[in-house]
Amino acid sequence: MADAVEKEGGSPCSVDFGDGDEPSPPPADADEEPGVSHGGGPENIREPTFQEGIMRPMRVHSALKSSKNFEDFRRNRPFKFLHMYSGPNDPLGQAIKIEAAKNRLETVVLSLDNKIDQTLDLSKPSSSTAIKQEVARGEWDYTHAGFPCGSFSMARHNATPGQPGPVRDKANIYGYQGNTPQQQAEADRGTRMATQAGDIYQEQVRACEARKVPPLATLENPPGSEESGGAWDLPELQKALEETKGVKIPYRSCAFMVKEKQRFLKPGVWAGRLSGIEKLQKVCRCPAWIKHVPLIGKQMTSLAAEYPQGLAEAVAKEVVASWKKTLNLEWWRYQIETKAQEVGDLQKKWLENEDNKSKAADTRPPPQKRAAAMAFKIDNIESDDMASGSKTIPIKELSCHVFHCLSMLER
Ligand SMILES: [Zn+2]
Repeated sequence: MADAVEKEGGSPCSVDFGDGDEPSPPPADADEEPGVSHGGGPENIREPTFQEGIMRPMRVHSALKSSKNFEDFRRNRPFKFLHMYSGPNDPLGQAIKIEAAKNRLETVVLSLDNKIDQTLDLSKPSSSTAIKQEVARGEWDYTHAGFPCGSFSMARHNATPGQPGPVRDKANIYGYQGNTPQQQAEADRGTRMATQAGDIYQEQVRACEARKVPPLATLENPPGSEESGGAWDLPELQKALEETKGVKIPYRSCAFMVKEKQRFLKPGVWAGRLSGIEKLQKVCRCPAWIKHVPLIGKQMTSLAAEYPQGLAEAVAKEVVASWKKTLNLEWWRYQIETKAQEVGDLQKKWLENEDNKSKAADTRPPPQKRAAAMAFKIDNIESDDMASGSKTIPIKELSCHVFHCLSMLER
């Protein structure tokens, strides 16, 4: 059966019959929990600042203010990755830490999973609300959620004695009419985890846009089938992706397991906003002698639930590339805002050149605005070029004018 499932493009999820550990799903409006316990500690989160309409999280602002040069800023400004439903080991979080370290970026990774913290329930609306508020303030530099797909399970449509049947299909994506209350509660919980993940995703894209940095927010789930449907068929998720111009990239797990003899054919979809995300699109090119391991039983399923190392590394590479760009954008905008007269001639020429390339050259905003707009065009250049360039900028005493600007920023 599992073979047939695999050939049809099934997923390990298709044999994950839900959260057996949980006696009964909590009610949809279980809101009494005191928010989410993320182990992040009382972080003293403060409201972001705004300069020229660009949002700057307070943590970034503080790092900019306290850094004497770009290298200082690089050290003082950790990039924060929020990984929801990370699983107990979080290979993606690990890969991001390693890739960031290779690029001399500091990182903070928060892996949220109830296998790590049993008091955590991301299906609770209160958890989602708390996370969304943080996200809206620009507290995270990348968010990802591979939310549970059990209730969208495909293999449930193949009757298995002793195992629960399906609670929905593509035509009844929120649940069958004939569901028992318990079945419907399970469907609702699955729907909630998916749509809340979609909400947080959308909030993160918005926050990145408000910060004018490359949007970094993704979701992951199996593709589902024509008959069974999948989380991607939820109108809420479709809307979230549409409104954020997010893309859906299908891949096979085995394509990222080239070093392993035993591979999972497991299909997945990585979706959202991540520059370079299209590089994840990979089909199975395993040689004939490779054995695709059938995903039967909880043990295999949970083994395959973890992202393959190769996939985690591929994602980490793109994430860190975007972060390097963000680091430069933040640094350069701040330099232009606070000490425009000290930005080196070469940099100015480069910025001017970038500006001339922009099509709306005739409708020029005032110089101050233009500088900020130019800084945003840093996209097209190598981050490390910027970094070395920035080192050459002499940092003199801040003028009274700059102090004035900064105090304005702090208000
Ligand atoms: Zn393969």
